[in-house]
Amino acid sequence: MRKALNTLLTEKLTRRTFLNSSGKAAAVGAVATSTTFPFTASAETSAQASKEEVKYSACLVNCGSRCPLKVHVKDGVISYIDSEDGINDEVFGEHQITPCLRVRANRYKTYNHDRIKSPLLRVGKRGEGKFKKISWDEATTLIADKLKYTIEKHGNEAIFYQYGTGCNGGNIHGRNAMRRFLSSTGGYLNYHNSYSTAQISRIEPFVYGKGHGSFMSEIANSDLVVMFCQNLAETRMSGGGQIYEVLQALEKSQAKVIIIDPRYTDSSIGLNAEWLPIRPGTDAALVAGIVHTLVDEGLADDDFINKYATGWDEDNLPATAPKNSSYKSYIMGKYNDGIEKTAEWAADLTRIPAARIRQLAREMASANNAWISQGWGLQRTANGEQGCRSIMMLPVITKQFGKPGPNTGDWLYHEEPY
Ligand code: SF4
Repeated sequence: MRKALNTLLTEKLTRRTFLNSSGKAAAVGAVATSTTFPFTASAETSAQASKEEVKYSACLVNCGSRCPLKVHVKDGVISYIDSEDGINDEVFGEHQITPCLRVRANRYKTYNHDRIKSPLLRVGKRGEGKFKKISWDEATTLIADKLKYTIEKHGNEAIFYQYGTGCNGGNIHGRNAMRRFLSSTGGYLNYHNSYSTAQISRIEPFVYGKGHGSFMSEIANSDLVVMFCQNLAETRMSGGGQIYEVLQALEKSQAKVIIIDPRYTDSSIGLNAEWLPIRPGTDAALVAGIVHTLVDEGLADDDFINKYATGWDEDNLPATAPKNSSYKSYIMGKYNDGIEKTAEWAADLTRIPAARIRQLAREMASANNAWISQGWGLQRTANGEQGCRSIMMLPVITKQFGKPGPNTGDWLYHEEPY
């Protein structure tokens, strides 16, 4: 019986051999259990049914990752979406890149009855919600006519190209295809900057000259990680996302993690972090309170900072700068607002206790290799660039640069301002 089973399991199955094998299996089953099964009938049914195929794809959601997908398809219909296999989960980079729930819901999205599957033409007033279904030919003709009319009457600059598509990473669809098409008609009005990093990419050159940041994997060399409003578990998730990179790095360094965020996020939970809830939009005040503590307790090394930075204190200001316009003067209340930015002052604004702000300053200054970074949420407010700028100054003031482990206070993604 064992020989019969081996033959059955290793034989290459064509329809004929499958049917033939089914007979053998029936015989084996009958021998094994003295029971007869209708194998021949089920074999025919299986053979008639089409086979499931695996199509390789990738998630094109604009999250920064690019997870590979195995899409199981039967009769032209997605049965389910699976992860690509990894090579060796023990080796970072060869591990399985597990997609997140966003793309695992793609089957649901693809077949959702609410999905718009054909062009619709508005027939009512704007906002009235009245549309009629039209064919693709009608839709493309209508758009072509409108484009021609606009170009002839007002010129190409009257055509504005809208920013996003929610889909990224390809050249044959979405924004790039549309841009190519509009360029071929004589051009279009483009947009300036980016909704993702408008303020941080604008301000960073004023701090560092150019956008720079360490790879997250550098956290493997850190003993302290401080993230301002950076929520990788919900924005850079999946096995291919930076959250996995950070988890792997933390496994090596076992660094303490502090996350400053108005929300208690999955990142705080997943990275086993200490969570410091902060009032939204007050990050620059928190940094000012930290820096005041550093100065007050003699933890800021003036000579060192002045060696590598400009504008820290009055001795290191450009000749044209007004008196008391250095950052230290601002912190110590010598600037024209006259307010000393003590930890108590910062506590009032941020709602983080003064004692914790002072302690945070000491932790940053005494760490061997402190990683400091920020997410992009805090720059998406009025004057958000000031929060970005102040966080970027912390690695300089705490001497956390030029060695393995630290970061610029930035987030790696934007090397040049738009
Ligand atoms: S992390 Fe999620 S959204 Fe991002 S590429 Fe992977 S599956 Fe897509």
